[in-house]
Amino acid sequence: MKLTVWTYEGPPHVGAMRVATAMKGLHYVLHAPQGDTYADLLFTMIERRDHRPPVTYTTFEGRDLGEDTAGIFKVTCQEAYDRFKPQAIIVGASCTAELIQDDPGGLAETMQIPVPVIPLELPSYQRKENFGSDETFYQIVKSLARPMDRTPEVTVNIIGPLALGFRHRDDIEEVKGLLYEMGIGVNVVAPFDATPEDITRLGAAHANVLMYPEHAESAARHLERICGQPYTKTIPIGVAATHEFVAEVAQLCGVEPRKDLSRLRQPWWSKSVDSTYLTGKRVFLFGDATHVKAAARIARDEMGFEVVGLGCYNREFARSIRELAREFDVPALITDDYLEVEKAIEDASPEMILGTQMERHIGKRLGIPCAVISAPVHVQDFPARYSPQMGWEGANVIFDTWIHPLVMGLEEHLLSMFREDFEFHDEAGPSHHGGHSPKPSEAARTPDKVEERADPAPEAPQTGSDVMVWLSEAEKELKKIPFFVRGKARRNTEKFAADQGLQEISLDTLYEAKAHYAR
Ligand code: SF4
Repeated sequence: MKLTVWTYEGPPHVGAMRVATAMKGLHYVLHAPQGDTYADLLFTMIERRDHRPPVTYTTFEGRDLGEDTAGIFKVTCQEAYDRFKPQAIIVGASCTAELIQDDPGGLAETMQIPVPVIPLELPSYQRKENFGSDETFYQIVKSLARPMDRTPEVTVNIIGPLALGFRHRDDIEEVKGLLYEMGIGVNVVAPFDATPEDITRLGAAHANVLMYPEHAESAARHLERICGQPYTKTIPIGVAATHEFVAEVAQLCGVEPRKDLSRLRQPWWSKSVDSTYLTGKRVFLFGDATHVKAAARIARDEMGFEVVGLGCYNREFARSIRELAREFDVPALITDDYLEVEKAIEDASPEMILGTQMERHIGKRLGIPCAVISAPVHVQDFPARYSPQMGWEGANVIFDTWIHPLVMGLEEHLLSMFREDFEFHDEAGPSHHGGHSPKPSEAARTPDKVEERADPAPEAPQTGSDVMVWLSEAEKELKKIPFFVRGKARRNTEKFAADQGLQEISLDTLYEAKAHYAR
């Protein structure tokens, strides 16, 4: 048993739903208790799809448990086929149905359904949503795809994009654009908008572009085995990664790595003098492994940030995240417990968080700006406008998204110079987020009381403050440090004092700690 308030991933059958909803002509019969239809809302509200997911639930109730739940499954499955006439059906159980062990796959096999019925074994108590999507897509590909002659022209499949995927819709367009510039055609995009019939044609492509390893790596490996199709290992998120991706695809397909950089603005934006203040900004990264890996390189190599912590919630990719953390010389955080993430963020005292919807909440609590780089996400990250993460336009989008929550360079300067100003005071927050900024407190408006006002949110967690006493002079001096680095200075000083066996922090201790860490 584990006490859980927030989960980064849903149960594996939600992953299966994401595959089914992404596809056309496929239906999912899910053995599940009454109430599990809540998952429909993920698609109709968060992703704002204009139709229900192609999922039929058995919705058994408590009183059905003494009866023939297997019979309920069979009737539901037959009705779903009769009503929707799909090209193929996937069948499986949700967490509760797994406990009653009706074996939907075995039951469906005994029925005379005239289309492929693909059983899913998704262990709800050991695995999660991403496993569910990867396994479901793999089972569909395994059942339907066969080796076949290659298309006469050079084509690839684009595999991995799903329903409810963070920017999947627009990433597909970017990847298609990159391929188009090299003269490479697209055989099938799957699961997004693919039919079961399309899946049977996967084998005709010359290679596979694996967009999201979380969702399609098993299928990519399978296709490599049975159809001899190599697949790409580079994820084109970030400028450097997109260049590498183009080179990799060109090499796999034996074509020229042609690219049209006319729309790429990110490198100049990063280089332009207005971005100087971004250099060395300390960022903490958390999300799914693929997006974190990409973001870490962009942060360091393309934005000039310092990565002070990173991690992922999907354990399947723990090894690669540990390698990445070694490369960046920071601890790797592999956890699906948001409280651990919150603690790690507090300890690292970053100036910015790049994370999921959960980290947005954590950032809000700690007063640290946050930009979203990965699922899980809320409705605002399924935008109406074109907003890819991949390719050249993705790099432009990322630049804008990441710098938006930050205090701008001139403003940072003003904040540290005019701490008592009615407008540029510590609590004001970025001026372009005016509507969300707390109003300056009365104390902040009264210059002679300014030193006594409460510290702003960033340093609310005062590590060790129960044993460490800040003498008033030291506390006043601490407040002269700009607020976005003050939390870090406080923690460093307390650590320094604790190492020296001190219980009190004087002005001297503060300066000694500063000199110590400057060394
Ligand atoms: S079956 Fe699983 S997903 Fe459905 S309500 Fe129960 S615990 Fe939640």
